[in-house]
Amino acid sequence: MFEFSSIEQYHAQLQQENTTCEWAVQQYLLQIKKKQALNAFIEVFEKESLERARQLDNKRKAGLPLKKLHGVIIALKDVICYKDHLISAASDILKNFTSLYSATAVERLLAEDAIIIGRTNCDEFAMGSTNENSAYGRVLNALDETRTPGGSSGGSAVAVQADLCMISLGSDTGGSVRQPADFCGIIGLKPSYGRVSRYGLIAYASSFDQIGIFGKNIPDICTVLDVIDGPDEYDSTVSQKNLKTCSDYSEEQRKLRFAFFPEALDHPSLDAEIATSIKNFIEELKKDGYQVSPVSFELLDYIVPAYYVLTTAEASSNLSRYDGIKYGYQTPEAGLEPDEFYKRTRTTGFGKEVKRRIMLGTFVLSAGYYDAYFTRAQKVRKRLAETTDQIFLDFDFILLPTAPSTAFKLGEKINDPVTMYLADIYTVMANLTGIPAISIPLFRHSNGLSFGLQIMAKRFDDPSLMNVADHLMKIKLQ
Ligand code: GLN
Repeated sequence: MFEFSSIEQYHAQLQQENTTCEWAVQQYLLQIKKKQALNAFIEVFEKESLERARQLDNKRKAGLPLKKLHGVIIALKDVICYKDHLISAASDILKNFTSLYSATAVERLLAEDAIIIGRTNCDEFAMGSTNENSAYGRVLNALDETRTPGGSSGGSAVAVQADLCMISLGSDTGGSVRQPADFCGIIGLKPSYGRVSRYGLIAYASSFDQIGIFGKNIPDICTVLDVIDGPDEYDSTVSQKNLKTCSDYSEEQRKLRFAFFPEALDHPSLDAEIATSIKNFIEELKKDGYQVSPVSFELLDYIVPAYYVLTTAEASSNLSRYDGIKYGYQTPEAGLEPDEFYKRTRTTGFGKEVKRRIMLGTFVLSAGYYDAYFTRAQKVRKRLAETTDQIFLDFDFILLPTAPSTAFKLGEKINDPVTMYLADIYTVMANLTGIPAISIPLFRHSNGLSFGLQIMAKRFDDPSLMNVADHLMKIKLQ
């Protein structure tokens, strides 16, 4: 098997003519076939990725310098548009729909000579935490095939975990990159809101959604982030400022200050072993001379409810566009009045969880309940933003678990949506406030599974977040 350890090393091998892009693609295609039972991919762009690899090999042989992502093999979650390719958000309602344009992030990957190998499975419209809400069936965790890889970007996580690609993109609205990374033993980054353009990302909840990156080492994720981020005239929510990128980050000399929340580490829902591992790690950091201090955080039990009120409200509005006229599937029943036509199309086209969220969102926005739910949730969001700003006056980073347990068993939570929602307790904070967050695979549980540590930084401080993540991974490996 082709051994991939980092983009840098891969490029060195290419330049020393020890390998070719074509060979690399062939090896990944073989691996994808071998691991088909994991169900990570919805579609593999076999011919096309081989063709592109050959073109890149020729370019290199002609002496052209390597671009940043020359020959890097990348998979896309099925919510990220790639022109002239099918995209479905893992939903029947978008079956056979072809993207008319590429997401800005995809354009930028291609401009740096990346190879897109396929589109990966996920929860329908990115709603879920186990990848079980997909019209294409569930995805298996390669560490233990009786378990879920997490969600909603489960396919993208497994694609990296099982060496089916070098890097993958997912989307993170409430944890959908970090939690599957945690369950699969890899790295998952959710950049700051406004760092990466959402143009061409199928919307779930627009004020929360952000494209995220899965990989196995920090420098690779930095390289990809630096390629895809930055202002975009197609998305006004991307910061127009000239933000520091990972490549212009220079090591800070001052002592790093970490905060942790006792309420989070002593929360009754948290697995005891996860709690102990993180507490021990905090002690190690203190011994190494870092400032790591407890900060009281009283909002923990309010943030999941606020997240589900606000995201379902946004989803009910975003998903109203799927009416059977503009996109994809439409009911085959003839002669219906428009209202009935929409209703039948949406009833058959959407899955159960998506319908649950559209109804919930419509309810919290309805005239009689708006203030009781939507307005109150907005107040929680505002309070949380203020509290977070306050914390970052005194600290550089916040340390948290990524998820309250290791990977769920398949089917374990699917009939209990509230328990499933509550498991998002540690990830939604970053999306409610727009700050960057990363899950790094530092720990092993006695059940054999891997789990991560989550680190959060100030909004747009992504480069220092990446730097500290790299540093903590190295400390742990020592
Ligand atoms: N589990 C969360 C949800 O179902 C996260 C989803 C996401 O980040 N896309 O809403």
